[in-house]
Amino acid sequence: MMEDQTFREKLSEEVEGEVFFDEPMDRYTSIRVGGKADVLVCPQSVEALRRVILYCRSCNKPFLPVGNWTNLIVRDGGYRGVIISMKRLQSVTWDMGRKGSVLVSAQAGVSLAEVVRMAARDAFTGMEFCAGIPGSIGGAVIMNAGAYGKEIRDVIKEVTLMNERGEIVRRKKKELSFEYRKLNLPEEMIVVGATFSLEKGDPVKIRERVAEILEKRRQKHPLEYPNAGSIFKNPKNKPAGQIIEEAGLKGVRIGDAKISEKHGNFIVNLGNARAADIVALMDLTKKKVREQMGISLETEVRIIGE
Ligand SMILES: Cc1cc2nc3c(=O)[nH]c(=O)nc-3n(C[C@H](O)[C@H](O)[C@H](O)COP(=O)(O)OP(=O)(O)OC[C@H]3O[C@@H](n4cnc5c(N)ncnc54)[C@H](O)[C@@H]3O)c2cc1C
Repeated sequence: MMEDQTFREKLSEEVEGEVFFDEPMDRYTSIRVGGKADVLVCPQSVEALRRVILYCRSCNKPFLPVGNWTNLIVRDGGYRGVIISMKRLQSVTWDMGRKGSVLVSAQAGVSLAEVVRMAARDAFTGMEFCAGIPGSIGGAVIMNAGAYGKEIRDVIKEVTLMNERGEIVRRKKKELSFEYRKLNLPEEMIVVGATFSLEKGDPVKIRERVAEILEKRRQKHPLEYPNAGSIFKNPKNKPAGQIIEEAGLKGVRIGDAKISEKHGNFIVNLGNARAADIVALMDLTKKKVREQMGISLETEVRIIGE
């Protein structure tokens, strides 16, 4: 493996975009925890992304793409390797189809909120369910993000990926294997962008639906504290939040990590929580729920680092 200093210098020369070294991840994760990543890069373009990947691979350095960091817990020891932020990939194009439909193509770094806002502005329906989900397009596709009975796979037309050789690969919906909160892809595949198919709709109804969803979220979710969204996947018969509530675990605390009183499937950071506190609280929740109710909760958030 190449010496670290040389790797860093060459990466800075190689990459068009910001590069940070030994960067604390608690500045970025929505739940505000995480130690330092060796490197954080923000490639400026798809070509810059390709160069980062090829360079990391040539030096045997692990890398991981991230979007808006809203479903991510980085452990306190940080990440050994290169975190690739997709935030600079921000282009969105709208192609009018027949019969008033539209194909929206957005690069991975675009926020879902932006697509929801633009669709509502131009009276296209289909994305309203994404209102209030704070992720990026790339994160939403990989996580098959969903709410209120719909998920990303319902509106997806095509996904643009970059493989480990830096080549662009396009996959139509029927070639993709989505499951609950997951798109199955070979590791090291990066979502570069996605195309969604939306229909012309009633502008008033669309705006009302978005406002209604945002209001429900404000009432149900502990948005006043840093959090990472739903911690566990919902089992088939009952939402995880309800299960955790019935197990009497709301309000349970380890350090500054607490199971929200407002929603059992959210862990909030009261101020100085460490990733270890959050992971310990997750383990405790799983154990108690298994013992008391015979249910195995499956983790939804992604935990990375050491
Ligand atoms: C308040 C709140 C409410 C939420 N509500 C919901 C909800 O209702 N429904 C829901 O589904 N989720 C919800 N979430 C979780 C989260 O917003 C979604 O999972 C979102 O899709 C994650 O996107 P992200 O860009 O933040 O991904 P990140 O957190 O940055 O990354 C998540 C995972 O995706 C991978 N990844 C990110 N970008 C790429 C890419 N371009 N290519 C390949 N892999 C990539 C990362 O490596 C990581 O494993 C909520 C979160 C919060 C904080």
